[in-house]
Amino acid sequence: MCGILEPKFMCGIFGYSGSKNASEVILEGLKRLEYRGYDSWGIAVAANQINLEKKIGAIGDLNQLNGLPAAKAGIGHTRWATHGAVSEVNAHPHFSSDESFVLAQNGIVENYQKLKSELDKKGYKFLSETDTEVIVRLIESKSQRVRDLKEAVREAFLELEGRNTIIVLTKDGQIIAARNGSPLVAGLNDGEVFLSSDTLSFAPHVSEALVVENGQMVYWNGKLTLLDIKSDKVLPLYFQKINFQNSKVDKEGYDHFMIKEIAESPYVINQIISEACRSAVNGDLSLYEDFVEELKKAKDVYTIGSGTAGIAASQIAFYLRVFAKIKAESVIGADIYEYFDLLGKDDLMIAPSQSGETADVLEVLEIAKKKGVKIASYVNMPGSTMARMSDFAFAAHAGPEICVMSTKVFTSQIAWGYYISKIAQGKAEEGKENLRKLADEIEDYLNTGSNHEAIKKLAKELARSKDIFLLGKYQNFNITKEGMVKIIEGSYIHAHGIPAGDLKHYAITLMEKGVPVIVVVSEDKTKDDVLNVVNQVKARGATVVGISPAPYSGFDYHISVSDTGETSAIMNIIPLQLLAYYMAVELGHNVDKPRNIAKSVTVK
Ligand code: GLU
Repeated sequence: MCGILEPKFMCGIFGYSGSKNASEVILEGLKRLEYRGYDSWGIAVAANQINLEKKIGAIGDLNQLNGLPAAKAGIGHTRWATHGAVSEVNAHPHFSSDESFVLAQNGIVENYQKLKSELDKKGYKFLSETDTEVIVRLIESKSQRVRDLKEAVREAFLELEGRNTIIVLTKDGQIIAARNGSPLVAGLNDGEVFLSSDTLSFAPHVSEALVVENGQMVYWNGKLTLLDIKSDKVLPLYFQKINFQNSKVDKEGYDHFMIKEIAESPYVINQIISEACRSAVNGDLSLYEDFVEELKKAKDVYTIGSGTAGIAASQIAFYLRVFAKIKAESVIGADIYEYFDLLGKDDLMIAPSQSGETADVLEVLEIAKKKGVKIASYVNMPGSTMARMSDFAFAAHAGPEICVMSTKVFTSQIAWGYYISKIAQGKAEEGKENLRKLADEIEDYLNTGSNHEAIKKLAKELARSKDIFLLGKYQNFNITKEGMVKIIEGSYIHAHGIPAGDLKHYAITLMEKGVPVIVVVSEDKTKDDVLNVVNQVKARGATVVGISPAPYSGFDYHISVSDTGETSAIMNIIPLQLLAYYMAVELGHNVDKPRNIAKSVTVK
């Protein structure tokens, strides 16, 4: 999942062959994949010849596909541009020179410059600015001397560097897809095949899915074949039942997915403590015991994530230090190079992730795994790469999170971090009880209309700000940072989360009349320190918003939350998420799809 801390590039691919109208099935699939990136999109269908429609902007309706005839097979793509502007020419799929096939790609061809100049020399022409077209021309060049297109795709794919997944449609309706990095899954149903970046997109059509692994390709010509790309050997097809019961993509009466998902926070916390929270892999509840055993004996414990998950990783490390007395350290997926030489077989790395496909985290985990580091993951998408490569794979069972801004999954991740820390402390029951109470308190909070009204009123005020500061200490520092991420993502307003005590060392220069400062205060040993800071910013004219159980002097606005003791930080994220939501609504922004960011980042 993403925050604002790094660039995001990704997209979704979808392929279909069967008795239904391909454009309709693909369009519906793309809509379900749109959370992955949405600057432009395209669909190609095969009816003896290939017809193609490409559009800029969000996935549209069938009436935008008038140029496509009824057809039984096709592929589609929703793009998040990495190479070349957002334009119809650069949108996928891309035609081969003789229009005998089209191709769409998820990822980045890291050696595309080199490949392009070689192909240039051979006389191949390029119409777009994308790295994708290099793959198309490379396949064409391979086709000159191999027996069939499948073989040309295989050979070309082996020459690509970087994390890539491609899908190819031929004019006679065959589909070939290959994976190295970005996700690829397949579903079959009575003569129909679905290929996609995630199982959610074809959930209405199938009950089982085949996960195509890195280094594998699938080939459809009325029958599905799975191949190892390097050896060209046929592999057995292994379909897994996917838990689709939570896969309904519906706002269920809410105005936006974001508010629906915040409302599901009590549910996701209860999932952690309920029987349903089992290993993603084998349903083994003793997984927790084995994991905690490993956690205690590990030499170094790292937590890792990107964006919002990076902040969750930091809070998980906090809980491990406080309750389990384990010296855990958190790292950001995109910025860990200096640790590589330090990693070894006695270490443990914990990765919370919504999608389980975040490219920069996956890359680090792969390196760590090679060095013998044990991997634990806490992911929300069943069957994801991260879950499958983990020694300890925990599933969040939080249900689909459609809004690009993560809310319920962040809450789930930090609540899980609290829970594992309590198990390691030897106080599992107390941990469960505290989470149960927390879920009830959050439920009450969210069901009380006056809480929403107070935050809406504040959102109206804050939506006019140029900068917003957020201060917190100890258990609340990461919470203010996540509040910062949510405000930036939803409102496009500059926000700055600072450890409360550090403010006086630099950002105090920015405190002047009317500057909004949100302070999160809990009834813990740091309360007085934080209230001192309230006085310092107040003395310089700041407008102080306090999120705390009791109102304190110096607060201009008070957002009242229950004191839930050890879990207070988890309680405190809820009003911040609501604030970000109501600010985005107030500003008229696209709440569920903020500009420039995508849900999960499957390329580096
Ligand atoms: N590199 C390709 C492009 O820029 C695909 C990016 C993506 O995965 O969305 O078009």
